[in-house]
Amino acid sequence: MCGGHEVRLLFIGPPGAGKGTQAARVAQRLGIPHVSTGDMFRHHVSAGTELGMRVDSIMKAGEYVPDEITVEMLRERIAEPDAAAGFILDGFPRTAGQVEELDGLIGSDGLDSVVVFEVGEDELVERMLGRGRPDDTEDTIRNRFKVYQEQTEPLLELYGGRGLLVHVDGMAPIDQVTERILSVLERS
Ligand code: ADP
Repeated sequence: MCGGHEVRLLFIGPPGAGKGTQAARVAQRLGIPHVSTGDMFRHHVSAGTELGMRVDSIMKAGEYVPDEITVEMLRERIAEPDAAAGFILDGFPRTAGQVEELDGLIGSDGLDSVVVFEVGEDELVERMLGRGRPDDTEDTIRNRFKVYQEQTEPLLELYGGRGLLVHVDGMAPIDQVTERILSVLERS
């Protein structure tokens, strides 16, 4: 290896907050992979793999895929050579159990920062209905919010306790959000 510093980031926020878009942009700028469990599941579904067939109906209902499936897929992904330079996690961990698993994989001091997307609920629903993904029906969106609030929001307190949180305004224009994230990360 060339001995470059690893950067491991987690992007977290409610569904539709724009974290996937920003994770892709920031990952490209930093030259590290964007690891999105949602994207990985969607690829499996569209390729019709066995895993894809198992998760299809779960995703359509807006529920979380069982941890054992998600964790194994993530473990394999971050073991790939490109992830040695660091990565941006988008959509994982999403449950307390997944945090424990991630701690086991990279250590409880393995993340450098956790970027939290702040957004208004009405704008979120509007955005999501506009993007036309198969799991973006109004009922599913509402359920995804509920599941996010119940299972994922508590993670903010946990990572806050580790002093890792960086808050960004997800409602700002796309370029501004990207620049804000990059400048905050530079300073930390
Ligand atoms: P969004 O950010 O809009 O909620 P994602 O693309 O991150 O969407 O995820 C879409 C769906 O994939 C989730 O609703 C869930 O069913 C599944 N999924 C993605 N990541 C995880 C995870 N870490 N644990 C469990 N399920 C997940």
